[in-house]
Amino acid sequence: MQAEADTAVRPPRASAHIRIAGLSKSFGDVRALSDIDCSIDEGSFTSIVGPSGCGKSTLLRILAGLLDYAEGEVLLGGQPVRGTRRDIGFVFQSSILLPWRTILDNVMLPAEVLGLDLRAARERAMQLLHMVRLDGFEDKLPRQLSGGMQQRASIARALLHDPKILLMDEPFGALDALTRERMNLELQRIWAESGKTVVLITHSIPEAIFLGDTVFVMTPRPGTIERRIRVDLPRPRSMHAMAEPEFARIADEIRDMFSHTGSFD
Ligand code: ADP
Ligand code: MG
Repeated sequence: MQAEADTAVRPPRASAHIRIAGLSKSFGDVRALSDIDCSIDEGSFTSIVGPSGCGKSTLLRILAGLLDYAEGEVLLGGQPVRGTRRDIGFVFQSSILLPWRTILDNVMLPAEVLGLDLRAARERAMQLLHMVRLDGFEDKLPRQLSGGMQQRASIARALLHDPKILLMDEPFGALDALTRERMNLELQRIWAESGKTVVLITHSIPEAIFLGDTVFVMTPRPGTIERRIRVDLPRPRSMHAMAEPEFARIADEIRDMFSHTGSFD
């Protein structure tokens, strides 16, 4: 299997790429995040689950430099995050492709925004479209593609400027269950092939476990990371991994935590 070979050549886990210490965030009187501490290794896959409104998107937007913070420290590669930066790619829940632009032109958008060399970017866009299995769809408009295909195009777009880190905020929430499973397999493969550090927010406990090296479980607002669960299932994982006792054990552990806090997101 392709993914197997690629997983084998991925670089060994390096130093912590992302380090967050004592991070809190309030919006006026609303305390969204409280005392977040974590570190995320380079090249790892981290899933974050937590009840609605516990501050998951806030945390990801702070990491992306889209939102400022006053309390605590957020370091990417040892550098404090202040403002947006090029080593981040972001995928939102809806694919937010521009409807009047072709798939290729949508994937090329960051090149225009960031002023990259357009010829090189176009070559890279074609490679990325190949990686997300959209060869032949370059000249289609978004509405001519299924939801899963549109979301794959937005993953390609997020990777165009070759960011080290890919942040994803409930990227598959709008997809039907079967498409979602297929996208989980695709994302695992893309992660293995690209060697990126991925942080994924999801409402789906199985999705979090299936994809993650580690699952961070957050408390209700003000959100903090209540538990870090290591997922020691071998890779590449197939959907059959969900039948493993280890998988069920972790899913139970997370569900128990949510039942204690009264939230079932
Ligand atoms: P989640 O993604 O976990 O559902 P969010 O990070 O979107 O949660 O929101 C956490 C809390 O912060 C919520 O109570 C939300 O209403 C509040 N919040 C988020 N963004 C803003 C904002 N820009 N202004 C005011 N309140 C906000
Ligand atoms: Mg959110």
